[in-house]
Amino acid sequence: MTQTIYLDYAATTPVDPRVAETLQQYLTPDGIFGNPASRSHAVGWQAEAAVEQARARVAGLVGADSREIVWTSGATESDNLAIKGAAMANQAHGRHVITSLIEHKAVVDCFLWLQERGFEVTWLEPDEAGCISRAQVEAALREDTILVSLMAVNNELGSINPLQAIGALLRERGVLFHVDAAQAAGKMALDVSAMPVDLMALSAHKAYGPKGVGALYVRRSPDVTIEAQIHGGGHERGLRSGTLATHQVAAMGHAFNLALEEGDAEAGRFESLRSRFLDAFGGLSGVHVHGPERARIPGIINIGFEGVDGESLLLALRGVAVSSGSACASATTEPSYVLRGIGLSPEMAQGSLRFSLGRFSTEEEIDTAAERLTEAVARLRERGAARRATV
Ligand SMILES: *Cc1c(COP(=O)(O)O)cnc(C)c1O
Repeated sequence: MTQTIYLDYAATTPVDPRVAETLQQYLTPDGIFGNPASRSHAVGWQAEAAVEQARARVAGLVGADSREIVWTSGATESDNLAIKGAAMANQAHGRHVITSLIEHKAVVDCFLWLQERGFEVTWLEPDEAGCISRAQVEAALREDTILVSLMAVNNELGSINPLQAIGALLRERGVLFHVDAAQAAGKMALDVSAMPVDLMALSAHKAYGPKGVGALYVRRSPDVTIEAQIHGGGHERGLRSGTLATHQVAAMGHAFNLALEEGDAEAGRFESLRSRFLDAFGGLSGVHVHGPERARIPGIINIGFEGVDGESLLLALRGVAVSSGSACASATTEPSYVLRGIGLSPEMAQGSLRFSLGRFSTEEEIDTAAERLTEAVARLRERGAARRATV
């Protein structure tokens, strides 16, 4: 394999080698391979104990009680369970729901699904930095509003929503609040014991755990009622049936525990890598860093380059793995709906790339990436100028 500089940690992270060791302890005959729902023998009990330890660890990272954590296959499923589940269970109180234009597709598509089924959706427009304000949510609330869903951290911009303020408003009005925290867990403090959030989606593979496992936080007090979306053996207190993937669950627990122990130090390191990266562009003109200056996580850096096409830049940056827009939307060549959603022109949105830093990023990689990027932008601009001169 060639040495790619990986700067796409917001799309997915590699599994931390310490977590990979945990994964392997729950598969083979000499490991804890039992079905955690098997109640009649020690093989099952051991698996159940591993699942419960992991549940406590995931709960621990976000200030929840273990009994508030439901295992799922990832944040997509958690978003589906939270949004459809809350809408279905509470529709007798009203059928108006609120979200924003720059949510992850896992949220957007659930709201479109609700819309097709007769729910009324208000799509809030973020400010130019990518944030939704409490005042905006307040203005959109109605008598029949039952649910608001907003992300903690935007996956393309790194912008942070004011969850505390919005949550307090919604608690006061008796409206459920779902938060997609896939990009936030492990990257900033999240404490549901102090934050009025009712439902929260988490994913393992954005935080050095494996793909295919996630969790939904469902508040117990005040009690939140949602309808199950997957039916079967009544696992997870009836909220999500299906035999638990013990290895995945244990690995997510380990990954989240590492985030609890190392997250603060890591954020400090990302902050300095970010500055180092941005400083390296000092000589380039027409460079715009999208997203807020302060209400943001340091690991996501979305940059627009005037007069440069993002796809050409991606190609010119061979050896550096970055993305234009999110991984989920990159099958299309449309400019990112998130960047369009914060008011960027199609050209500017098209000329922007997301660089995301992670645990294994080094100063050397950052320096090399910045150098290649500076060269590529200059080269593409020269070529563009030459082409314009000949027509
Ligand atoms: C990655 C991501 C998801 C989807 O999570 P999966 O675990 O891959 O299903 C949802 N929301 C946000 C904000 C994400 O970044």
